Amino acid sequence: MLYENWLQTASLNIKTAYCPPLKRDVTSDCLVIGGGIAGLHAAFRLANAGKEVILLEKTMCGGSSSGQSGGFLTPESEEDIKKLIKRYGRKRAGIIYNIPLSGVNMIVSTIKDYNFNCDLRKQDSLYLSIKPSHNDKIEEEAETRKEMNLPYELLDKNELEKIHPGGYILGLKYSGSYGMNSLSYVKEMKNLLLKKGVKIYESSEVNTIEGNTVKTHLGSVKADNIILCIDKMKKEIHQEVSKKYYHVQTFLSISEPLTNEEMNTLFPKQEVMCWDTKWNYTHYRPVVGNRILIGGSSVLTSYYSKYYHSPTIINRSINQLKKRFPIIKDAKFTHYWAGLIDVTKDLVPIVDYDNKNKSMQYVMGCAGLNWAAFCGDYAARRILDPKNTEDLTEFLGLNRKYFLPDFFQNIFGKKITFAISHIRELIR
Ligand SMILES: Cc1cc2nc3c(=O)[nH]c(=O)nc-3n(C[C@H](O)[C@H](O)[C@H](O)COP(=O)(O)OP(=O)(O)OC[C@H]3O[C@@H](n4cnc5c(N)ncnc54)[C@H](O)[C@@H]3O)c2cc1C
Repeated sequence: MLYENWLQTASLNIKTAYCPPLKRDVTSDCLVIGGGIAGLHAAFRLANAGKEVILLEKTMCGGSSSGQSGGFLTPESEEDIKKLIKRYGRKRAGIIYNIPLSGVNMIVSTIKDYNFNCDLRKQDSLYLSIKPSHNDKIEEEAETRKEMNLPYELLDKNELEKIHPGGYILGLKYSGSYGMNSLSYVKEMKNLLLKKGVKIYESSEVNTIEGNTVKTHLGSVKADNIILCIDKMKKEIHQEVSKKYYHVQTFLSISEPLTNEEMNTLFPKQEVMCWDTKWNYTHYRPVVGNRILIGGSSVLTSYYSKYYHSPTIINRSINQLKKRFPIIKDAKFTHYWAGLIDVTKDLVPIVDYDNKNKSMQYVMGCAGLNWAAFCGDYAARRILDPKNTEDLTEFLGLNRKYFLPDFFQNIFGKKITFAISHIRELIR
């Protein structure tokens, strides 16, 4: 197996212009920093409103998480509706559930409106119980969806066999989810922004920010409004803000093209995107060319500070899938890659103004393509029409309280603080 991000091969058909580094001092109405989904959606909203926009990106657009993802587009990401209700109560959970939901709709409608070529697939979600003691997770989720009037089907073993015959014992199926190649999406989005007049500078890492002036190694931008959508912020940019998020590591792999018979055995009726009830869940879905894209993680590597290059973790997920579907036991998985997803301590992103400079906003810790799209767009709307933009500070605020306060992090460090905080979110 090759350690390589297969999405790069799969998106070679989308050509994008070379955007050279910023090499001079310039000014603009708006500056967006970071060319992931959040930054691109922020720039998109601002450009559509006629603003002059510059986008600075450290590597290339999609050079981090947004160009490495599995492309599962579902409102139920790290935070399912049941957990949100437990944390916020029913009414407030509805407000925050709307964020990933709107994010999915925003991405899908952009793809359709502009005819993006990014392997968009309508794939219902299938949440699968691997053993009887896990059935209550599925049942509780079904119960919550019923109370919230959200669509779902609860499928027993026999019904599951007709849709996805892998020996799972209970499943929850619902519509409203899609799959896409997220790197192709980013490249299409970059092309669209260039057409709309956004000036994009790649290989342009922001090193310091002083007031409204942002400096790279070779140039600077002075802007009336700044939106920072960067991952893994260095403390030189903002020491306190950089403490607010860390990452979790996850792994993906891709199969060689499968035969129609193999594919029809896995998905006899329709394509679905699947994940199971394990804490470090295995997830997979069909992608272009009759391949299966699969993801997995492990408790131990989740909080590693660096990329873990061994295939051990993802091989575990691949072998589990092969056991459930012996027809693919000899299929090769050709590529695998690791990625670090930025997260906050409570797994909900931050979108907020800088404490001292209200013309600068942070968009950070978006654990999901849909959250990122919404949050980038939301920050832009707050520039364009602050009075009529909903106030989500209670959920997304920079200064919100977490289970473990800052002094705990100062003593025990990021890894331990974030791990404990996430375990608490997942079990409560
Ligand atoms: C392996 C993997 C699988 C995933 N699978 C899924 C999935 O199936 N579904 C899903 O919804 N989500 C998935 N995610 C999560 C999703 O990809 C991210 O949540 C989302 O892409 C975050 O987007 P973003 O724009 O906030 O951040 P990023 O994509 O990380 O973008 C931030 C950008 O900022 C740039 N940057 C950083 N520092 C600077 C600087 N100083 N100056 C200039 N630019 C800078 C970076 O180069 C980067 O391009 C996955 C992530 C990974 C890693």
